[in-house]
Amino acid sequence: EHLSSNVSDTAQIARAVYDVEEATATAFDIILEHKMIKSETRGSLIKFLQLLVAHHPSRRCRKGSADVLVNFDELFPSDIWLEPKQEENDGKNELGSFHICGKDVPRGYWMFCRGSKNDTRGFSCGLWVLLHSLSVRVDDGESQFAFKSICDFVHNFFICEECRQHFYDMCSSVSHPFNKTSDFALWLWSAHNKVNERLMKEEASLGTGDPKFPKMIWPPKQLCPSCFRSRNPKNYEVDWDRDEVFKFLTGYYGKTLVSLYKDK
Ligand code: FAD
Repeated sequence: EHLSSNVSDTAQIARAVYDVEEATATAFDIILEHKMIKSETRGSLIKFLQLLVAHHPSRRCRKGSADVLVNFDELFPSDIWLEPKQEENDGKNELGSFHICGKDVPRGYWMFCRGSKNDTRGFSCGLWVLLHSLSVRVDDGESQFAFKSICDFVHNFFICEECRQHFYDMCSSVSHPFNKTSDFALWLWSAHNKVNERLMKEEASLGTGDPKFPKMIWPPKQLCPSCFRSRNPKNYEVDWDRDEVFKFLTGYYGKTLVSLYKDK
């Protein structure tokens, strides 16, 4: 019965592009608020911005990311947090009013990623959707770059300490460079499922999480019947048809995601 909550997922995902914008703007606000740009992290922010410029599903986020990149050294001088001018302004220089996805974002609410409680889903859900939608958009030749950018971005800028550590461990266990979009997109999908699997157990024992959105190994059969090779898996060891999963991810995070969103 878990699965029924996700049956409308495909219709819902079209609304997720708003959340992808929300997650992008929120990620930036957090980076600034927590003064996370340091000499050791600047390079990884630049790499991630390059990925966003080319492949963010929302045009206005692509444009905003390009503006940040073009002005990077002026916006984020290496002594950015030491500048007396900023102290005088109470931190409210042009950075404080910087909107990477345009002036309307962040809106302060979530659509696809809205939890049934105040403190569930939201940003971390939106960040996953952003990362998956980037993973299906890169070309084969960019897949290793996208992998590195995403790993380093999460490692340096994701506010959840436990998450960044777990994700970093998964990134570090990859031994060969990616040279195909499908391999990278499927790696990210499988990494997300490992997190889901861990949280399924944790949420069951601790009663945490969002009861309306229980974690599951994803996608459920209702969303993608052809993704499953064996018909009735009794445990979580699903026999996936990886080609079909990739096709599904491409449709779900590619076309469906932007179908309501052509002009933005
Ligand atoms: P989410 O897991 O956020 O998923 C969002 C949506 O993505 C789902 O609604 C579904 O439509 C889709 N989806 C689900 N699974 C997959 C998949 N395998 N592939 C593609 N799409 C999928 N929380 C912790 O407590 N511990 C952690 O270690 C941790 N690590 C994280 C690492 C990263 C990089 C991120 C972005 C988040 C992490 N989180 C972690 C947060 C956690 O994964 C969830 O984001 C959060 O619990 C909210 O869950 P949700 O129900 O909104 O679904």
